Amino acid sequence: MRKLILKAGVFCMAFTLLVFGIALADPQSIPNGPWIQDEQTVKLEALTSMEELQKKLFNIYARSKGRMEVEVAGETTLGIPIYLAKFGEADDDKIRVLIEGQIHGGEPLGAEACIEVIKQLAASGNKDIDEILEKLTIWIIPRLNPEGATYEEDDELVQRRTNEQDWTPDEWGLPEDAPPPWYQYGQYGWWDPPGYDVNRDSNPDLDFVLGPANAYLLPGNPSLPGFFVTPEGRAVRDVYKQLRPDVFIDLHHRGTNLMSEEDNSMCILQILAQVVDLGREDYPLDPAVLDFSKQINAYVYQRLNEMGNSPFTNIQRYPDVNLPGTTLGTFSLNGSAIMLYEVRTAKQKSSGMLTKQVIIGLMETFKGLADGSIFYVAPHDYDDILPAGPRIGNPHLIAE
Ligand SMILES: [Zn+2]
Repeated sequence: MRKLILKAGVFCMAFTLLVFGIALADPQSIPNGPWIQDEQTVKLEALTSMEELQKKLFNIYARSKGRMEVEVAGETTLGIPIYLAKFGEADDDKIRVLIEGQIHGGEPLGAEACIEVIKQLAASGNKDIDEILEKLTIWIIPRLNPEGATYEEDDELVQRRTNEQDWTPDEWGLPEDAPPPWYQYGQYGWWDPPGYDVNRDSNPDLDFVLGPANAYLLPGNPSLPGFFVTPEGRAVRDVYKQLRPDVFIDLHHRGTNLMSEEDNSMCILQILAQVVDLGREDYPLDPAVLDFSKQINAYVYQRLNEMGNSPFTNIQRYPDVNLPGTTLGTFSLNGSAIMLYEVRTAKQKSSGMLTKQVIIGLMETFKGLADGSIFYVAPHDYDDILPAGPRIGNPHLIAE
């Protein structure tokens, strides 16, 4: 990992270098780009840009009185930094938590929630926060996929799911005609210009390196691992290897579901504790890890429900998936309990509420881990959470 630990004395210099020394993406505008969902009307200009993200992180850092460090965990193919906010070091005596926002560039509210959580952890002197930071090490990557997050068409920010990286077989010592990984959207005509779905690029073998000896695995498929061909996938993998988190939380968006056939109110949030089938011989998921994942998900579900009002009660379980190549899948197979947040993609007026829901969920998780109350939740409480209801809205939406 390229380290950029900022100490107070060198803060101004480091900040200047970062702000002026980084070439931000200059994506080309293209005709016939990805189709934008009607529902995807989070007002994009209201979102935090990369420049603002940098400034916000370093402003929070400057006020954090040593609670927090900011590092560059990696760099995209276009040279955009991937930031990591660290509260504490990888300490075996602490509960270690890693949070990932915006691995899908077109799903921006996770990054917004992360920024607010970072602010709360860094600035507050209240005793809940003190207890959290005493018991927990928390590392947060607010925006893992800045290329997708800054993607423009006709000089307008549109964002998109993938990064902007093309298939480069020679980089892996492979012949020109080697098939690209299945999640290279450009190569299979799904997307132009090309890009990878970074959230299919992980491999439960954290040391996997694509090369001639294992090229027979290409192109792979959704029920198999990815190939760590993206710098974003490798960046979060490297952070993971350093921290070895007990808990990994991933923040996404999805379209709209109704609560059920009978109840046509909208589901606001879907959560999930398992993304790899139990009992796979090739990728065995530890039942104890699954139980801990269920405890965390059920705990958040219960805390949000206690708040009342539909924003916090219309919660469902995300549909079952079997995806070892997602960060959630790979990290759960390496022993981390997991939680997936999929907030509804919504009109601007709802996005503050949707972000708030994630912030509350994350802060409650920290508190529950710090005071131990999560460990008293029955894992089977999770199984009572309503399954996903009927889907409404856009038929072209690619699965989240
Ligand atoms: Zn997503």
